[in-house]
Amino acid sequence: MEQVQSLEEIQNFKGTYPKQLLLLCLTEMWERFCFYGMRGILTIFMVEKLMIGEKTANLQYGAIQAFIYAFAFIGGLFADKILGFRKSLFFGGILMIVGNFIIAFSPDTLFYIGICFTIVGTGFFKPNISSMVGTLYKQGDVRQDAGFGLFYTAINIGALLGGVLMVYLAHNVSWASAFFAAGIVMIIGLVTFIFTQRTMGTIGVSPQHADVPQKKQTMYEILVYLGSILSIPLILLLVSNTQYTDYFMYIIGPVTLIYFFYEWAKYPIVEKKKLLAALTFILFSIVFWAFFEQSGGSLSIFALHNLNNNLLGMTIDPNMVNNSSNTIFVVVFSFLAGLIWIWMAKRKIEPNTIVKFGLGFLFLAASFYILFFTRTFADASGKTSLNVFTFAYLVMTFGELCLSPIGLSAMTKLSPKPLWGVMMGMWFLASAYGQYVAGLLGAGMVSPNENATLIEKLISYTEGYKQLGIYALICGIVLIAISPFIKKLMQGVK
Ligand code: GLN
Repeated sequence: MEQVQSLEEIQNFKGTYPKQLLLLCLTEMWERFCFYGMRGILTIFMVEKLMIGEKTANLQYGAIQAFIYAFAFIGGLFADKILGFRKSLFFGGILMIVGNFIIAFSPDTLFYIGICFTIVGTGFFKPNISSMVGTLYKQGDVRQDAGFGLFYTAINIGALLGGVLMVYLAHNVSWASAFFAAGIVMIIGLVTFIFTQRTMGTIGVSPQHADVPQKKQTMYEILVYLGSILSIPLILLLVSNTQYTDYFMYIIGPVTLIYFFYEWAKYPIVEKKKLLAALTFILFSIVFWAFFEQSGGSLSIFALHNLNNNLLGMTIDPNMVNNSSNTIFVVVFSFLAGLIWIWMAKRKIEPNTIVKFGLGFLFLAASFYILFFTRTFADASGKTSLNVFTFAYLVMTFGELCLSPIGLSAMTKLSPKPLWGVMMGMWFLASAYGQYVAGLLGAGMVSPNENATLIEKLISYTEGYKQLGIYALICGIVLIAISPFIKKLMQGVK
C-alpha cells in the first residue's frame, strides 16, 4: 500500500509540477467539460426546445451564469468553515451529476430544476478545487503560477471537448443524450477525484476545530448539505424571474464585502495588507471579465452578421471561430506561459502579479482596438475579415493568461489559509459581476435602429469595441502606475 505523504513531503516535490496536480487537472477538466458543454447548448436549448423568446433566453442565460459564479462564494465559505475542500468538492460533484441526470430524464419539464442543482453543485466544486491546487505549494514557491497555468490548460481542454461533444449530441442525437453524457463525464470526474484524494495526505479535510465534539461536527455538515438542497426552490424562483436576479446581484456583492471586512478585521496588519491587495485584484477582474465576456454576447452577434467565412484560406463558420478560438489558444499557450514565468523567475526578471494584471489589461485593450480596426477591412456589404477577428482573439487570450490563472494563484498566496475558500469564492463572484455587466455593455452596443444595414451594425459594434479598448487601456495604465503601492501591500509575495 502506498504510504500517505505528509504536507511537507507533498510541498517539497522535485521538478516543475507536483504529481498530485495532474490528477486535480483531470478532475477539473471533466467538471469544465460539463460546465462549458451545458453553457454551449443553454441558449439554443431554451430557444429551440423550450420555445422561449430570444431576449428572455439571453437574459436567463446571463442569470444562470451569474448565479453559478455567485454560488462559488457560498461554496467557498462553507468549505472554510465546516466541510473542508474535499467534502465540498464531493458534494458539489454529486449535485452536478444529479442535475444533469434530472434534465436528461425529461429535458422539457425538468430543465430548470436540473440547472439549479448544477448551480449549487458548481458553487461547491469550482472554487474549492482551485484552492486545492494552491495547497500543493509552499509559501513563496516560484513554481506556483506555472502550476495554475497547467491547471488552466486542463480547464480549457475540458471546455473545448465539452463544447464540441455536447453540441454535437444535442444536434445529432437528442437533447437528453447531451445532458446524460455530461452526467456520465461528471461521474468520471468524481471517481478521478477519489483517486486524487488518496495522494493528498490531510489536505482539504474538515477545518472544524478539534474541540468541537464529533457529533456536533457531523450535525453541522448535515445542516450544510440539507440547507443547500432546500435552497434549490428559492434559486429556481430567482433564476426563472430575471428581475429577481438583478436584486440578487445588488445584494450579494455588498453583503460579501461586509463579510470580507468582518473577517479582515480579525487579522494582524501584515495579513490585512495582503488581503487588501487581493481585493484590488478581485475588483479589477470584474472589469476584465465584463469586457472579455463579450464573446458570449455581442461578439457572437458580430460574428453572425459582420464577418466573412475565410480563415487563412479555409471556409469556416465565423461563430465556430468565436466559440472555440479562445479555448484553443489557451490550450496551446497557457502551458507555455507557465514555463516562461518559471524561466523568468529563475533569472529574477519575472513580473510581479500586479504587473501581470496590468499586462493583461494592455493585451485586452489591444485586442479591442484590433476589433475596432476590423471596420477598415470591411467590404461594401459590411462584412469584414475573419482573420483579423481571430487575431484579436489571440491577443485577448494573452491578456487572459496574464490575469486569470495568475489571479487564482494570487488568491491563495495573499490570503490566510482559513480564508482561502472565501477569497477564491470572491474571485469567482467577480466573474459573476463581469458576466452581468457584460450583458449590459453588449446591449448598449446594439444599433438603435432595428432595421440597420450591416454597415450600420459594423459601425455600431466597432465603435463600442473602441470604447472598451480605451477603458481597458486606462485600467492597464492605472494598474502599472499603482504597482509600487500594491507591491508594498503584498508584503514580499510575488
Ligand atoms: N475560463 C475559466 C474557467 O472556467 C475562467 C472563468 C472565469 O473566472 N470567468 O475556470
